[in-house]
Amino acid sequence: MKVLKFGGTSVGSPERMKNVAKIIDDNNRKIVVLSAVSGTTNSLVEISSLAEKQLKSEAKKAIEELEKKYAIFINDLLNNETAQKEAKELIFNIFETLKTLADSPFTVRTEKRILAQGEIISTNLFQLYLKEQNISSVLVSALNFMRIGKDDEPDYFYIKENLKRELKAFPDTQIIVTQGFITKNVYGEIDNLQRGGSDFSASLIGAAIKAEEIQIWTDIDGFHNNDPRYVKNTKPIRELSFDEAAELAYFGAKILHPASVLPAKLQNIPVLLKNTLQPEAVGTLITREEKGDGIKAVAAKDGITSVKINSARMLLAYGFLRKVFETFEKYETSIDMITTSEISVSVTIDNIKNLAKIEEELQKYSSIIVEHEQTIICVVGNFIAEKTGVALKVFEALGNIPLRMISYGGSMHNISLLINTKDKQKALELLSKHLFETSNE
Ligand code: ASP
Repeated sequence: MKVLKFGGTSVGSPERMKNVAKIIDDNNRKIVVLSAVSGTTNSLVEISSLAEKQLKSEAKKAIEELEKKYAIFINDLLNNETAQKEAKELIFNIFETLKTLADSPFTVRTEKRILAQGEIISTNLFQLYLKEQNISSVLVSALNFMRIGKDDEPDYFYIKENLKRELKAFPDTQIIVTQGFITKNVYGEIDNLQRGGSDFSASLIGAAIKAEEIQIWTDIDGFHNNDPRYVKNTKPIRELSFDEAAELAYFGAKILHPASVLPAKLQNIPVLLKNTLQPEAVGTLITREEKGDGIKAVAAKDGITSVKINSARMLLAYGFLRKVFETFEKYETSIDMITTSEISVSVTIDNIKNLAKIEEELQKYSSIIVEHEQTIICVVGNFIAEKTGVALKVFEALGNIPLRMISYGGSMHNISLLINTKDKQKALELLSKHLFETSNE
């Protein structure tokens, strides 16, 4: 059985939702995971923040605006009167719940419950459409089987056992529809897998049922060899290994949630990235196979801060790096890149929430230089160790763009470079020109 996940833009209008129904209706049993209609989760975040600030009438206004959008959506999606009536009732109830939530004392639970409504709406409307089209289908709530533990990590055993039970109840149904993103937590409360988490849901579901394939449908035909938002003439990559895909997903290529690679990799389930707007396009297939060598793609991650920790005490000392890392760990800040010299170490972080406390602690034994507005450029491929020249190609391409940090050799799949964000556009263009336009890779 396959698992197919459709993102927000793929269900972003009634037309697009109908198109998804066409794509999935091929007489094969499958699980279909949906995101919220594009823009909805952002609106819900806004509603939740208004509610948190006790701006009740603004929150109510925002809820009513969203409700209006869905009234139009339903009219365009459904033809038959019974389905329309059912959809209107459903929307009415969900928006009443939202109004009540926005009006009640605000807690973290309120926020999670508000955010969950986007996927609940999209899956219910989609299921009503499938029913209207006489397509054999059922909606199984993700809240019946998806669960995260105390550490916010998925509870693999629980998910597997409970999903198995849910699926057993509908042995002959062709399409099982469920929500991405939403989950229960260890206390049985509604929670979520973080923004963009529907990909992760699909991967967890795929791993739980040992799916034949996990398909992630978005509005682009797979991973491209450079960022199409900044560079012209980028090309889709046909095949990637799990490790290459994880690097690209983490370092900026917005098409796949980075967490979603691991569950698929652990169960060795191929992940196929497809484009709803161009279903015939091949897309990108991610598997265990490490095919082809050389540079395959470039991605960039903004919002990076570098921290240079300089200390004479590092000279010939052991345990210094442990001390540095422990400080970052203590303040729950993860490090992306690291480079060292004999008396200093530089790291990058993308979360500066606790930076002041980290600095204070590190300053006890070192001097610190912090630089914001940095970008990590990540060059991904299969860099066979015996083959030289990959790094040279990258440096030559970048010409005189100042490089703040270089990380090479950590894996066979990645060269990371830290540059100033103001040089990003130029760096991506130069890399495209020199790595992909003049060679056959
Ligand atoms: N709807 C959620 C979001 O916008 C989850 C997802 O689409 O993956 O972040």
